[in-house]
Amino acid sequence: MEGANEELARLGAKKILLQIPDGLRRKTDVIADALSPEVSVWGGTCYGACDLPLDIGDNDALVHVGHTCLPDIEFDYDVVYLEGRSTAKLNISKDIYGAIDGKIALYSTVQHLDHMKEVSRIMEDRGYSTIIGTGDPRIKYPGQLLGCNFSAGVEGADAHIYVGTGMFHAIGLSLSLEKEVLILDPITGEFNSTTEIADRMLRKRFAAIESIKKSEKIGVIVSAKPGQRRIEIAESLCDSCKGKCTLLEFDEVEPALVDSFGWKGMVNTACPRLALDDFIRFKTTVVTPVEFLIALEELDWSDWKVDEIEGTL
Ligand code: SF4
Repeated sequence: MEGANEELARLGAKKILLQIPDGLRRKTDVIADALSPEVSVWGGTCYGACDLPLDIGDNDALVHVGHTCLPDIEFDYDVVYLEGRSTAKLNISKDIYGAIDGKIALYSTVQHLDHMKEVSRIMEDRGYSTIIGTGDPRIKYPGQLLGCNFSAGVEGADAHIYVGTGMFHAIGLSLSLEKEVLILDPITGEFNSTTEIADRMLRKRFAAIESIKKSEKIGVIVSAKPGQRRIEIAESLCDSCKGKCTLLEFDEVEPALVDSFGWKGMVNTACPRLALDDFIRFKTTVVTPVEFLIALEELDWSDWKVDEIEGTL
């Protein structure tokens, strides 16, 4: 917190807006009390660093908790990021060593980047060669994965280990690389393979592509959030499918809002996780831009790839 206060003092911020993700909201008072300027708290969503408020009113800066910045996205106001790093003791099941060989690529999310570096040190001490990819301009730290960006993936590695909790980042990486990824939970020490779940997800994606072919009317979802707004892709899809597609602007892509149109299918250009991870929350079939082009037969099934937002500078 000291670093954040120093940065706020350097910016001359007297009043700030504090943005906290769901999982940390119960700690709002503790975080607000530790910040030196006068604090107002953002009550809206905080899904990622793509999801900053469009406007911070008369506050001098935004303090965003839990995510790293997206280096390729600029905002009209000053932002100070409080990245949440896990300080839990690292645990590794020794069984993992029997499952890996050759050059090992390591990955994580911001919460477990320190654990990833520790795993790298331990493996190097055991004689393994580890490698950590740098990623594109959307990525702040080497080895970091986002749910919308797997550019840190190392094509030539013999084994891929995601150090973290939850499945989605590892499955996304596995689909992006078309390789097995091992998930090493740094807290419990257990490890799992993505193969079965990634195959299941792929089958569901193919079913969604078949389903959207039956939609007479299609909405193309565009997000107002600066870090996930892909308007060029949305406009080009609407142009290529005139009469059938309507561009829909959302400030929040909520299932109830999407379903309220009563259309059978939508193409999502907002956060890629909506179609790949959250699709079960929608009654409407939601596909990615590439999947829609496959449904239109402009691309082939073999062209399927996981939807990502590339970083650009
Ligand atoms: S677009 Fe989605 S996956 Fe990417 S940073 Fe935002 S919330 Fe996370």
